[in-house]
Amino acid sequence: MYADEYRVAMDVVLNRGAFILQSENREFDQNLAKYVGSKYAYGVGNGTDAIIIALRAAGVGQGDEVILPSHTYIATAASVHFAGATPVLVECGTDHLIDPEAIESAITSRSKCILPVQLNGRTANMEAIEQIAKKHGLVIVEDAAQGVGSSFKGRAAGTFGIAGTYSFFPAKILGSFGDAGAIVTNDEKIGQRISLLRDHGRNEEGNVVAWGLNSRLDNLQAAVLLTRMKHLDKEIARRREIASMYQEGLQGISELLLPPGPNASPDHFDSYQNYEIEAERRDDLKKFLLDNGVGTLIQWNGSPIHWFKDLGFNVNLPITDELFKRCLLLPINSMLTNLEVEIVIEEVRRFYRS
Ligand SMILES: *Cc1c(COP(=O)(O)O)cnc(C)c1O
Repeated sequence: MYADEYRVAMDVVLNRGAFILQSENREFDQNLAKYVGSKYAYGVGNGTDAIIIALRAAGVGQGDEVILPSHTYIATAASVHFAGATPVLVECGTDHLIDPEAIESAITSRSKCILPVQLNGRTANMEAIEQIAKKHGLVIVEDAAQGVGSSFKGRAAGTFGIAGTYSFFPAKILGSFGDAGAIVTNDEKIGQRISLLRDHGRNEEGNVVAWGLNSRLDNLQAAVLLTRMKHLDKEIARRREIASMYQEGLQGISELLLPPGPNASPDHFDSYQNYEIEAERRDDLKKFLLDNGVGTLIQWNGSPIHWFKDLGFNVNLPITDELFKRCLLLPINSMLTNLEVEIVIEEVRRFYRS
C-alpha cells in the first residue's frame, strides 16, 4: 500500500546521499514525540537496542534486578542482560500483560526497575504499576515495542516510565522496511544520555563525552516511517474494526477467551498489534484452521521466556505455563477484507461445533 509515496520519500534521500542523522531523522524524532505526547524522542537501530539504551540511560546496570513478564519476546530479557542487570520474570494477568501483584511479590533489595511490556497493542494499567514503583523507589522503563498507538487513560504507551521504547520492525504496526526503533522520555538529562549512547558517546559538537554504541536510525528508514506515520491512525482504526468483528462473531463460544474488545473500557485504547485469544484444544484448532486456509500464529514460537532453561531461568510461573497451552493469534492487519475476517470467524465456529 502507498508504494508511490514510499518511492518518492526514499528518492529524496537517495538523491541527496546523506544517510545518517539527517533531516528525516530529526523530523521523525519530532513527529514521534508529538504523536505520543513526550518531550523527546530518539530514533535508534532497532527495538532491542532501544531497551538496552533506555535501561542504561535510566541508570540500570550491574547488580540490579529488573522485573518483567515472561510472556514477552526474548529481546526484552536479553536487553536487561546486555544492560548488565538480571531479568526477573513474573506472571501476566487475564489481559496477558504484566500482573501488578506479581511485580510486588518479586521485589527484593536488589530490584531497581520495572519493565512492563505493552503487549499486543495494549497499554497496561500503569496507575497500579506507578504506585508500586513509587512505594518501592523503582524506576519504570516501558517496552512499548508492540504498543505504538495504544494508550491508558489518554496517555500513550511508552510515556509513563522514565523512558519508553518502540520497535519499527516490519511486522509491527508502525513498521519500516528493515530494522528500526525509538526511545521517548520527558526527562532532559535522560534524553541527553540516550542521545550519547546511540551515537558513540558524541555530543552535538562531535566530542566524545561518554561510552556509547552505534545505534542510530537510518535516514532511509526515517523517511519510510515519516510516510507510514501519516497513515497510522487509519491503520489502527481498521485493526479496531476487525477486533470488533471478532468480538461480535466469536462471542458465546465457551471454549474461547477473547481479548478485551475495543470498547470494553474507557481507560484503554488498544491498537491491536495482535489479536491474542485463549482457546481450548488450541493445537487442534490451529491445525483445523490451517487445513481450511486460515494461518494463525502462537506468539514467541510458542515459548514464554522462563522456558529457556539454557539461559539459566529456574522460576515457577504456572499461569503463564497454562496460557501457553491456550494462546493463539488470529489474523489481524489492515489488508484483511471483511469477507476474510468473516471466514476466520466461521471456521472457528465450525471447529467448536464439530
Ligand atoms: C519486536 C519486539 C521487540 C524487539 O524489537 P526489534 O526491533 O525486533 O529489536 C521487543 N519487545 C517486544 C515485546 C517486541 O514485540
